[in-house]
Amino acid sequence: MNLILMGLPGAGKGTQAEKINETYHIPHISTGDMFRLAIKEGTELGQKAKEYMDQGALVPDDVTIGIVKERLAKDDCKDGFLLDGFPRTVAQAEALQSLLSDMNESIDYVLRVEVPEEHLVERLAGRRICPTCGTTYHILYNPPQQEGICDNDGSQLIQREDDQAETVKNRLEVNVEQMKPLLDYYHDRGYLVTIDGDQEIDHVFKDIQSTIEN
Ligand SMILES: [Zn+2]
Repeated sequence: MNLILMGLPGAGKGTQAEKINETYHIPHISTGDMFRLAIKEGTELGQKAKEYMDQGALVPDDVTIGIVKERLAKDDCKDGFLLDGFPRTVAQAEALQSLLSDMNESIDYVLRVEVPEEHLVERLAGRRICPTCGTTYHILYNPPQQEGICDNDGSQLIQREDDQAETVKNRLEVNVEQMKPLLDYYHDRGYLVTIDGDQEIDHVFKDIQSTIEN
Protein backbone atom coordinates (compact mmCIF):
# COMPACT_ATOMS: atom_id res chain seq x y z
CA MET A 1 0.00 0.00 0.00
CA ASN A 2 1.53 3.28 -1.13
CA LEU A 3 0.25 6.28 0.74
CA ILE A 4 0.92 9.98 0.96
CA LEU A 5 -0.15 11.86 4.06
CA MET A 6 -0.97 15.56 3.87
CA GLY A 7 -2.20 18.09 6.35
CA LEU A 8 -1.47 21.42 7.94
CA PRO A 9 0.74 21.75 11.02
CA GLY A 10 -1.22 20.69 14.08
CA ALA A 11 -3.67 18.49 12.13
CA GLY A 12 -2.37 15.37 13.86
CA LYS A 13 -0.49 13.89 10.93
CA GLY A 14 2.33 12.50 13.05
CA THR A 15 -0.02 10.63 15.35
CA GLN A 16 -1.93 9.11 12.46
CA ALA A 17 1.29 8.19 10.69
CA GLU A 18 2.37 6.24 13.77
CA LYS A 19 -0.93 4.37 13.84
CA ILE A 20 -0.75 3.55 10.14
CA ASN A 21 2.80 2.30 10.63
CA GLU A 22 1.83 0.10 13.60
CA THR A 23 -1.26 -1.33 11.92
CA TYR A 24 -0.10 -1.87 8.35
CA HIS A 25 3.65 -2.29 8.89
CA ILE A 26 4.64 0.14 6.20
CA PRO A 27 7.42 2.62 7.00
CA HIS A 28 6.57 6.21 7.83
CA ILE A 29 8.93 8.20 5.65
CA SER A 30 9.20 11.83 6.61
CA THR A 31 11.39 14.12 4.56
CA GLY A 32 13.56 15.01 7.55
CA ASP A 33 14.21 11.37 8.47
CA MET A 34 14.97 10.55 4.87
CA PHE A 35 17.61 13.28 4.62
CA ARG A 36 19.12 12.34 7.97
CA LEU A 37 19.41 8.70 6.91
CA ALA A 38 21.04 9.55 3.57
CA ILE A 39 23.51 11.83 5.34
CA LYS A 40 24.24 9.21 8.00
CA GLU A 41 24.82 6.54 5.37
CA GLY A 42 27.12 8.94 3.56
CA THR A 43 25.57 8.37 0.14
CA GLU A 44 26.61 10.71 -2.64
CA LEU A 45 23.18 12.31 -2.64
CA GLY A 46 23.20 12.53 1.14
CA GLN A 47 26.47 14.45 0.99
CA LYS A 48 25.07 16.79 -1.63
CA ALA A 49 21.97 17.40 0.45
CA LYS A 50 24.13 18.12 3.48
CA GLU A 51 26.09 20.77 1.59
CA TYR A 52 22.89 22.66 0.81
CA MET A 53 21.48 22.22 4.30
CA ASP A 54 24.72 23.41 5.93
CA GLN A 55 24.43 26.60 3.92
CA GLY A 56 20.83 26.97 5.01
CA ALA A 57 19.73 26.54 1.39
CA LEU A 58 16.86 24.48 0.01
CA VAL A 59 17.90 21.08 -1.29
CA PRO A 60 17.20 21.11 -5.05
CA ASP A 61 14.54 18.77 -6.43
CA ASP A 62 16.89 16.46 -8.33
CA VAL A 63 18.79 15.70 -5.12
CA THR A 64 15.61 15.29 -3.06
CA ILE A 65 14.02 13.02 -5.65
CA GLY A 66 17.18 10.94 -5.87
CA ILE A 67 17.06 10.47 -2.11
CA VAL A 68 13.38 9.50 -2.28
CA LYS A 69 14.24 6.98 -4.98
CA GLU A 70 16.97 5.41 -2.84
CA ARG A 71 14.68 5.30 0.17
CA LEU A 72 11.77 3.66 -1.68
CA ALA A 73 14.13 1.01 -3.06
CA LYS A 74 14.92 -0.22 0.45
CA ASP A 75 13.64 -3.59 1.66
CA ASP A 76 11.22 -2.20 4.21
CA CYS A 77 9.23 -0.53 1.40
CA LYS A 78 8.45 -3.76 -0.41
CA ASP A 79 4.89 -3.83 0.97
CA GLY A 80 4.40 -0.12 0.64
CA PHE A 81 5.23 3.18 2.28
CA LEU A 82 3.73 6.24 3.84
CA LEU A 83 5.25 9.48 2.60
CA ASP A 84 4.96 12.52 4.85
CA GLY A 85 6.30 15.93 3.82
CA PHE A 86 7.05 14.85 0.26
CA PRO A 87 6.01 15.82 -2.36
CA ARG A 88 5.79 19.49 -1.48
CA THR A 89 5.27 20.88 -4.98
CA VAL A 90 3.56 19.80 -8.19
CA ALA A 91 6.98 19.38 -9.84
CA GLN A 92 7.95 16.93 -7.10
CA ALA A 93 4.62 15.15 -7.43
CA GLU A 94 5.21 14.69 -11.16
CA ALA A 95 8.71 13.38 -10.51
CA LEU A 96 7.28 10.95 -7.96
CA GLN A 97 4.71 9.71 -10.49
CA SER A 98 7.40 8.87 -13.02
CA LEU A 99 9.67 7.39 -10.36
CA LEU A 100 6.88 5.08 -9.21
CA SER A 101 5.90 4.10 -12.70
CA ASP A 102 9.55 3.12 -13.37
CA MET A 103 9.22 0.85 -10.33
CA ASN A 104 5.90 -0.54 -11.60
CA GLU A 105 4.27 1.02 -8.60
CA SER A 106 1.66 3.68 -8.09
CA ILE A 107 0.08 5.70 -5.33
CA ASP A 108 -3.01 4.19 -3.75
CA TYR A 109 -4.26 7.14 -1.73
CA VAL A 110 -3.32 10.64 -0.82
CA LEU A 111 -4.80 11.08 2.64
CA ARG A 112 -5.42 14.64 3.61
CA VAL A 113 -6.16 15.15 7.30
CA GLU A 114 -8.29 18.26 7.41
CA VAL A 115 -8.93 20.44 10.43
CA PRO A 116 -10.53 23.91 10.16
CA GLU A 117 -7.87 26.58 10.43
CA GLU A 118 -9.43 28.26 13.46
CA HIS A 119 -9.21 24.97 15.35
CA LEU A 120 -5.60 24.56 14.32
CA VAL A 121 -4.85 28.00 15.72
CA GLU A 122 -6.52 26.92 18.96
CA ARG A 123 -4.50 23.71 19.03
CA LEU A 124 -1.17 25.32 18.22
CA ALA A 125 -1.55 28.53 20.17
CA GLY A 126 -2.60 26.65 23.33
CA ARG A 127 0.82 25.17 23.88
CA ARG A 128 2.77 26.20 26.96
CA ILE A 129 6.20 25.12 27.97
CA CYS A 130 8.12 25.06 31.24
CA PRO A 131 11.39 27.00 30.84
CA THR A 132 12.94 24.98 33.68
CA CYS A 133 12.22 21.33 32.84
CA GLY A 134 10.96 21.59 29.27
CA THR A 135 7.61 19.87 29.92
CA THR A 136 4.94 20.93 27.45
CA TYR A 137 1.33 21.54 28.35
CA HIS A 138 -1.76 22.57 26.47
CA ILE A 139 -4.27 24.93 28.02
CA LEU A 140 -7.18 22.83 26.71
CA TYR A 141 -5.92 19.30 26.15
CA ASN A 142 -3.22 18.88 28.76
CA PRO A 143 -3.45 21.68 31.32
CA PRO A 144 -1.23 21.86 34.40
CA GLN A 145 -2.96 21.38 37.78
CA GLN A 146 -2.59 25.06 38.51
CA GLU A 147 -3.07 27.49 35.66
CA GLY A 148 0.22 28.75 34.22
CA ILE A 149 2.39 26.79 36.68
CA CYS A 150 4.54 23.71 36.00
CA ASP A 151 3.38 20.61 37.90
CA ASN A 152 6.97 19.42 38.31
CA ASP A 153 8.78 22.44 39.65
CA GLY A 154 6.35 25.34 40.09
CA SER A 155 7.93 27.46 37.32
CA GLN A 156 5.85 29.98 35.42
CA LEU A 157 4.91 28.46 32.05
CA ILE A 158 5.73 30.38 28.90
CA GLN A 159 4.41 30.48 25.35
CA ARG A 160 7.05 30.14 22.67
CA GLU A 161 7.08 32.89 20.08
CA ASP A 162 6.36 30.27 17.38
CA ASP A 163 3.15 29.32 19.16
CA GLN A 164 1.63 32.78 19.41
CA ALA A 165 -1.66 33.11 17.60
CA GLU A 166 -0.54 35.62 14.98
CA THR A 167 2.60 33.64 14.15
CA VAL A 168 0.58 30.44 13.97
CA LYS A 169 -1.96 32.05 11.64
CA ASN A 170 0.76 33.31 9.32
CA ARG A 171 2.46 29.92 9.27
CA LEU A 172 -0.84 28.23 8.43
CA GLU A 173 -1.55 30.68 5.62
CA VAL A 174 1.82 29.97 4.01
CA ASN A 175 1.14 26.25 4.24
CA VAL A 176 -2.37 26.56 2.79
CA GLU A 177 -1.00 28.46 -0.20
CA GLN A 178 1.76 25.92 -0.78
CA MET A 179 -0.52 22.93 -0.43
CA LYS A 180 -3.33 24.12 -2.68
CA PRO A 181 -1.81 23.24 -6.09
CA LEU A 182 -0.72 19.86 -4.78
CA LEU A 183 -4.21 19.07 -3.48
CA ASP A 184 -5.64 20.04 -6.87
CA TYR A 185 -3.09 17.86 -8.63
CA TYR A 186 -4.02 14.77 -6.62
CA HIS A 187 -7.70 15.55 -6.67
CA ASP A 188 -7.69 15.79 -10.47
CA ARG A 189 -6.04 12.38 -10.67
CA GLY A 190 -8.49 10.77 -8.28
CA TYR A 191 -6.03 9.99 -5.47
CA LEU A 192 -7.14 12.51 -2.91
CA VAL A 193 -9.25 11.47 0.06
CA THR A 194 -10.11 14.03 2.70
CA ILE A 195 -10.23 12.71 6.26
CA ASP A 196 -12.01 14.71 8.94
CA GLY A 197 -9.22 15.41 11.41
CA ASP A 198 -11.44 17.42 13.70
CA GLN A 199 -12.48 14.46 15.83
CA GLU A 200 -10.91 12.16 18.39
CA ILE A 201 -7.63 10.54 17.37
CA ASP A 202 -9.14 7.05 17.24
CA HIS A 203 -12.06 8.19 15.11
CA VAL A 204 -9.71 9.87 12.67
CA PHE A 205 -7.80 6.62 12.40
CA LYS A 206 -11.01 4.59 11.89
CA ASP A 207 -11.86 6.85 8.95
CA ILE A 208 -8.41 6.30 7.51
CA GLN A 209 -8.80 2.54 7.92
CA SER A 210 -12.17 2.42 6.24
CA THR A 211 -10.76 4.42 3.33
CA ILE A 212 -7.71 2.27 2.71
CA GLU A 213 -9.40 -1.07 3.37
CA ASN A 214 -12.26 -0.50 0.95
ZN1 LIG B 1 8.89 22.37 34.86
